[in-house]
Amino acid sequence: MPLKLLKCDEAIPEREKHVYIKEKGEDTTQFLPSSNVETIPGSLSERGCSYCGAKLVIGGVLKDTIQLIHGPIGCAYDTWHTKRYPSDNGNFQLKYVWSSDMKESHVVFGGEKQLKKSILEAFAEFPDIKRMIVYSTCATALIGDDIRAVVKSAEKELGDVDIFCVECPGFAGVSQSKGHHVLNIGWVNEKVGTFEPEITSPYTINVIGDYNIQGDTFVLEKYMEKMGVQIIAHFTGNGTYDSLRGMHRAQLNVTNCARSAGYIANELKKRYGIPRLDVDTWGFDYAKEGLRKIGAFFGIEDRAEAVIAEEVAKYESKLAWYKERLTGKKVCIWTGGPRLWHWTKALEDDLGMKVVAMSSKFGHQEDFEKVIARGQEGTIYIDDSNELEFFEVLDMVKPDLVLTGPRVGALVKKLHLPYVNGHGYHNGPYMGFEGAVNMARDMYNAIYSPLMKLAALDVRNDETEEDTSNQENNETLKEKSDEIAAYIKERTEEITTYIQERCLWQFHSRSWDREENINGVINTAIKILTGEEVGTETLNEKLYFADAKILVVELKVKFSWLASMEHAHIKAVLELVRQKLIGIAITGSLNAELNHSLY
Ligand code: SF4
Repeated sequence: MPLKLLKCDEAIPEREKHVYIKEKGEDTTQFLPSSNVETIPGSLSERGCSYCGAKLVIGGVLKDTIQLIHGPIGCAYDTWHTKRYPSDNGNFQLKYVWSSDMKESHVVFGGEKQLKKSILEAFAEFPDIKRMIVYSTCATALIGDDIRAVVKSAEKELGDVDIFCVECPGFAGVSQSKGHHVLNIGWVNEKVGTFEPEITSPYTINVIGDYNIQGDTFVLEKYMEKMGVQIIAHFTGNGTYDSLRGMHRAQLNVTNCARSAGYIANELKKRYGIPRLDVDTWGFDYAKEGLRKIGAFFGIEDRAEAVIAEEVAKYESKLAWYKERLTGKKVCIWTGGPRLWHWTKALEDDLGMKVVAMSSKFGHQEDFEKVIARGQEGTIYIDDSNELEFFEVLDMVKPDLVLTGPRVGALVKKLHLPYVNGHGYHNGPYMGFEGAVNMARDMYNAIYSPLMKLAALDVRNDETEEDTSNQENNETLKEKSDEIAAYIKERTEEITTYIQERCLWQFHSRSWDREENINGVINTAIKILTGEEVGTETLNEKLYFADAKILVVELKVKFSWLASMEHAHIKAVLELVRQKLIGIAITGSLNAELNHSLY
């Protein structure tokens, strides 16, 4: 049965319809995973909200437009700065976020006044900017703020501004995909045809569904410039508000992300007769194919071939280097939807990798048709995965790399698996010839970096092992030191006994006298035995030397082990002898006269 109920989903068996494993001889007429439907309660979705799809993916990319989010501040923060789509005018759209900052009182008494104030304030702060998109969010849609009426009044008051409304609150659809749709259709309904672009080439296109992630658009624009093709509007990478109003003037819609922007391409075809050419802009061979198709459409194949030849000469050998190292590596693609079908063949054909599992957050049936048609047998295809499913699938397929967004990427990293940001990229651009090499480089770096292996080391175990080995060492040392202690003790007893038997200097009449002798003789003996210099200046020193010298001669004769004894051990033995003699002859002595005042 190709639809699979994962073990983690036993409590939510409805998830079975969303997980598919392709078997030999099957096509999508037999099985197609369920998609673009409501997330099943109990399954923690990775999806974004509908407002997010409109603002973060499409509208927020425009480089000359104030993005005003009418709602609580969290909605603005949710979609600010989380993707890297630069622009050639200083990244205006990345630097700023605008929000009407709705508070409880606005929710209770209405937020229209607050919205009007925010619109006027935003334009006043940025007097050079004359374009704005206003988005509704859950709170403002639920209380029924009439944002269109507010926008109309603001436009009237300001005179020279143009504002577009996106009424697509978070709850409007099952995922961010709804926001793509609402913005596409709203734009073509209200804005396309309201601006006449300057035509500078006999070959004109719109590039649809590319958002200039880390410079993708700049790569595509460079190719078109070399071919002499004018891009009327780029929907929406590095795009301007007014260029998108002039989309009706292009001869061809070159469509990349059909999921987020196929709607506007379809409408432009229906309403203005502009054909839609679907291309894959990621992948080395796909890049050649796309340029050849555009060249063929306009009858400028030679220009396309010239661009291809130049780019291939620059990048083919680099890609080959990575291919050699990436061939056979298993990869999971867990992204929004379209990248599954854009990337699977590119990774397999360009780099020899094997795509073993794919997961789509917001893909529709169309996306699954494409990806299953392009994908391998045995590969796992999932719609709207939850976290536990990710873990289970990782266990099943054991990939070398996961291409996914930062949220799932954080989970993947915890499992010490290499991850490359498949949404905002690690170090893009990833489109075109140079992009294919950049992507291969990031994958190579991720897979071959020792970091993940190092991160997988359980330091706690290391410490335990170290502790154990320390313990072992300590035990060994203890055993050894016990041996030494026993050895020293034995030798101490022998010498003490000998001195007790032979030496009178320890038995002088007074305790102070005994103590001076014992310390003096033993310390001098230690010096003689260890080769240290002995002082013989004072009378007492001469005395101690005399006693010590004889003692040492005798000890050497009596105890042959002294000749090979380490100096440290000699010192230790004689120090103990000293202590023992003091104990015996002084502190433990029962001689009552030792401390008698008359003596
Ligand atoms: S779900 Fe609603 S409240 Fe949450 S970010 Fe989206 S629009 Fe804002």
